[in-house]
Amino acid sequence: MSEVTPLVEAPESVFREGLAAGELRFQRCRECSAAVFQPRVLCPGCGSDELGWERSSGLGTVYSTTAVRGRDGVHNVALIDLDEGFRMMSRVEGVDADRVVIGSRVEFAAVEQDGEPVAVFREVS
Ligand SMILES: [Zn+2]
Repeated sequence: MSEVTPLVEAPESVFREGLAAGELRFQRCRECSAAVFQPRVLCPGCGSDELGWERSSGLGTVYSTTAVRGRDGVHNVALIDLDEGFRMMSRVEGVDADRVVIGSRVEFAAVEQDGEPVAVFREVS
């Protein structure tokens, strides 16, 4: 695999490096203070390119949940509202895919999947 080093690190790379370090990183706009996710170059709210990186507490609430049937069985797809004010698509582990409850409190964990760290969530009691 050949790689070119970019002059400015791509937002997606900063996010992935965070996952590899066990951190959930997100961006916050320095102009309008909006929490921004997915990683991007411009603030979707005000168009500013002044996006700084922050580390999330990893605590959030399940906004929506769907049980998806695939080749490997049933897995969960959920939208999680993080306490810092951004929403991300992920999955809730540690509970049956169709037993995830909207509104339940969850905590981020980085797990390895196909050799890549990915963000998942687990219910907290
Ligand atoms: Zn903004």
